[in-house]
Amino acid sequence: MEHKNSMAGAKGGPGLLLKSGRIIDPFTMIDTAGDVLVKDGKIAETGKVTDVPENCHIIDVHGKWIVPGLIDMHVHLREPGEEYKETIESGTRAAAAGGFTAVACMPNTRPVNDSSDTTRFILDRTSDAGFARVFPVASITRGLAGEELTEFGDLLENGAVAFSDDGLPVKDAGVMRLALDYARNFNALIISHSEEPELVAGGVMNEGVVSTRLGLKGIPAAAEQIAIFRDTAIAELTGSRLHVAHVSTAGSVEIIRQAKARGVRVTSETAPHYFSLTEEAVEGYNTFAKMNPPLRTETDRKAIVQGLKDGTVDAIATDHAPHSVLEKECEFALAMNGIIGLETSLPLSLELVRQGNISPMDMVRLMSTTPASILGVDGGTLQTEAVADITVIDPALEWVVTEEGFMSKSHNSPFIGKKMQGKATFILIDGRIVAFEA
Ligand SMILES: [Zn+2]
Repeated sequence: MEHKNSMAGAKGGPGLLLKSGRIIDPFTMIDTAGDVLVKDGKIAETGKVTDVPENCHIIDVHGKWIVPGLIDMHVHLREPGEEYKETIESGTRAAAAGGFTAVACMPNTRPVNDSSDTTRFILDRTSDAGFARVFPVASITRGLAGEELTEFGDLLENGAVAFSDDGLPVKDAGVMRLALDYARNFNALIISHSEEPELVAGGVMNEGVVSTRLGLKGIPAAAEQIAIFRDTAIAELTGSRLHVAHVSTAGSVEIIRQAKARGVRVTSETAPHYFSLTEEAVEGYNTFAKMNPPLRTETDRKAIVQGLKDGTVDAIATDHAPHSVLEKECEFALAMNGIIGLETSLPLSLELVRQGNISPMDMVRLMSTTPASILGVDGGTLQTEAVADITVIDPALEWVVTEEGFMSKSHNSPFIGKKMQGKATFILIDGRIVAFEA
């Protein structure tokens, strides 16, 4: 693409004008046709820009959406330690290609991100090789062992944005209470991977008629719901901020809805696969449909969509979980959990818009403005003087997901072969264009 890596809108550049697009900004509640002028890495002006600076680089974005840079608050970048699955370079390349200007990465790397050394390593690797911003999430407990808390203050000072033992639940309710109590001192965010392990007990898919038919051990919806109920009750007790990761069941949506109604400081996210697929995708022992929490029923899927509509579910996050061929192309029960999601999240979310379930404004709020505010990071708006992190979207572009097309190092996606509509054309980070050949 001709504008590849243009620095026109970056610090010291002559300016960059995105001309004649549809500007959507949930922060200012603006949805209008117009231009966005970017200068010195910041949003300089939006609307009808008449005073165009000299030498300004102009890109016609007619028919496209100009939105605050998308933020995926739940990804696994695998570096350090599992670079054969993904690296910070390949993972952020996938993010940028998928329209994300920033991602928050989970701490279940090797070593676990439970120290400021590892947090700083991730940030250093990002400045050297990253195509998108990376916000490290540090672990709640040392080594994800569920026992001793990490040093929240030190980790926050060194760039961690939240705390989670994601991949594993914090098994001991007492430890979770300590974590939430401790986090309140810093107004820090605890992200809960909500799962009652005694009920999962070797389960590999949703417990129900499909698991019975396939002869696979199921994971009941209650395994997730009990844990969410526990953690929202503890957050209510301590008055701390809690974010529930990857909500997958109708019951979970209802528990969060009730907690919010009581004034608990809880937010939640779901992933595109939970509103796009059901347990039926596992038929044929498809390991690319194996994840934790598992794909659920059509009733659950509908409740998730309703939760996104009414604000019970605050964010769409991918839980991007790259795995190698060997880890996925094996017996179903042995295959690793998780799918990649960075490059398919936007068109799957646009599908909700096309179905009339959410508005374009809602979608941008779920994928940018709210994640920014939950994480307490810059971005999520196109208002003047805001950082120029922008995603330009072609909502009509049709394309087919292919294994070779992924920028991610892994290709474990249940959407391979599926026709998609909508794609990011390019992104801006600090006013600098990041684009890839189509
Ligand atoms: Zn998780």
